Amino acid sequence: MRKVVKFGGTSLADAHQFEKAGEIVRAESSRRYVVPSAPGKRNPSDTKVTDMLYACYAQAEADADFSELFGRIQDRYQEIIDGLHLDLSLTEEFALIEANFRAHAGRDYAASRGEYLNGIIMADYLGYTFVDAAEVVFFRENGEFDDQKTNEVMGDRLKNMPNAVIPGFYGIGADGRVKTFSRGGSDITGSIVARAVQADVYENWTDVSGFLIADPRIIPNPEKISMITYRELRELAYMGAGVLHEDCIFPVRREGIPINIRNTNQPDDEGTWIVESTCQKSRFVITGIAGKKGFCSVNIEKDKMNMEIGFGRRVLQAFEDNGISFEHVPSGIDTMTVFVHQNEFMNKEQNVVAALHRLANPDMVDIEADIALIAVVGRGMKSTRGTAARIFAALAHENINIRMIDQGSSELNIIIGVRNEDFEDAIRAIYNMFVLVQL
Ligand code: ASP
Repeated sequence: MRKVVKFGGTSLADAHQFEKAGEIVRAESSRRYVVPSAPGKRNPSDTKVTDMLYACYAQAEADADFSELFGRIQDRYQEIIDGLHLDLSLTEEFALIEANFRAHAGRDYAASRGEYLNGIIMADYLGYTFVDAAEVVFFRENGEFDDQKTNEVMGDRLKNMPNAVIPGFYGIGADGRVKTFSRGGSDITGSIVARAVQADVYENWTDVSGFLIADPRIIPNPEKISMITYRELRELAYMGAGVLHEDCIFPVRREGIPINIRNTNQPDDEGTWIVESTCQKSRFVITGIAGKKGFCSVNIEKDKMNMEIGFGRRVLQAFEDNGISFEHVPSGIDTMTVFVHQNEFMNKEQNVVAALHRLANPDMVDIEADIALIAVVGRGMKSTRGTAARIFAALAHENINIRMIDQGSSELNIIIGVRNEDFEDAIRAIYNMFVLVQL
């Protein structure tokens, strides 16, 4: 058994959290590869080290005095080293980082030091080998992650290592400079390492016991999701359900490696399993509900649209030409509606309308703002009758008007559009209908 364990920022925020992480790693000899984040918040009003590094580097880049903030970053690490009673000094590392800040080594370099230093501490604490991510994670010239090269080099490097610590979040660009993934990117590193070592499980340790059926800010104490498929997760994550970086599922999914989300503060909780496929039924017909506010619908009408070959393409071209991606395109016989992100669309709306007239010659274009989209996701829907009916009944009962309905052909989700102001009520109504009544 071979496991990759990734710890998030709050799991490594101070020495006490490090001890919990250490206990988790030591509890199972299969936990051989560890991917740490940078120290996160110790309490809600605290600042993540990554954010301190960004701020500090901004000062360095402006050639201002950055010593105060730099000193505070040093203190965060020293506190951890002292708390763990390690015989380790980062003085030389910090001297080099400081010099590189002065030499304007780059924003990504600066941010990456959070993980880099935490990796050194973690390796020392566990007695594992430290492997700098800049030597095993590669980006192409165009800035994209180079999965092939990374998999080869990292696989080779880790092949004969019984254990290792590989810091998350960064790698090396084609230009030889350190480059980071987007924020929260240590999740991606964990997944890349899991693929490279052909792990049996990728454990992602964080500060919650897995995924919840709905956002706890809307539903107090929602039920947990014990198992979810990659495809379901993708639908929910796309609609704004957080916890895991969206891109981290691709490397492991390809290899069929399951991800287990676990809680460092409650290590006995089973957490959520993310799997390729399962014959296990979810407890409820729906696996999760997520959504986002702030969409616009652009409604295009044209008589006999259904007879006109290429009409849809011309409509979408008007959006493409203006650099706008669309979310959903439900259509009727003589109408087609394009859902877009309001903030992306707002500044370009008149250009799009003009392009629509020029390209597709519609009878009418009508724009409506402030729409929220809600995705009701569940692998159980395919084999259950009446799911849509129950959603509509729940919403009708709450007097919520449905603006749009879209069921993917995979029957994995139903997307509904409601007014922004009905968003929370709609989620509550759906949750009550599918989850509460069944408890
Ligand atoms: N430390 C980085 C961030 O705050 C990456 C991570 O934690 O995954 O975004």
